[in-house]
Amino acid sequence: MNELRTLISETAIQARIKELGQAIRLDYQDSSLTCICVLRGALFFAADLLRNIGGDVRIEFIILSTHQEPLCSEVLYFSGQIEGEHCVLIEDIVETGHTLEVLVDYLNQFSPKTLRSVSLLDKPSNRDHRVRPDYIGFSIPNEFVVGYGLDLQGKYRALSHIAAYIP
Ligand code: 5GP
Ligand code: MG
Repeated sequence: MNELRTLISETAIQARIKELGQAIRLDYQDSSLTCICVLRGALFFAADLLRNIGGDVRIEFIILSTHQEPLCSEVLYFSGQIEGEHCVLIEDIVETGHTLEVLVDYLNQFSPKTLRSVSLLDKPSNRDHRVRPDYIGFSIPNEFVVGYGLDLQGKYRALSHIAAYIP
């Protein structure tokens, strides 16, 4: 039988998001900030993070489609006007770094004033691109995780905690 094992509790997630929000706001002081949420996985993280960044914070959305073998990613949708804006890309998880690299390259075309990235989770053991999120919620071991936006074929996104999926 498939099993879920709690890896990060709801309380721990919310406490860390509060810290991340405060750290980001401190770095940008009173500037306006455009956050770019990567759909669908970063949906809940972005909603909670924005409320903890506070001040003049805006939200835009980006959708990527990824085909495996050959690995190729394409931006399907981007809602924003980010030229000259301070931007923070919001991701759910960074594993190899491929997705983050594609997104950062894509967004840089629009000449934001600055562009940083925040990922709730970092799984550095499988990294093969030289990218690292500027802000990280939690570093996790090499396990497949679900919950708090992360899915397995559309399931488990609405869990309030993050769990390791044991097949
Ligand atoms: P990367 O391009 O960095 O290898 O992988 C990033 C993407 O792979 C994430 O945006 C996510 O969609 C997916 N991914 C990587 N690890 C996990 C995981 O443990 N659980 C889930 N649900 N998705 C993952
Ligand atoms: Mg994702």
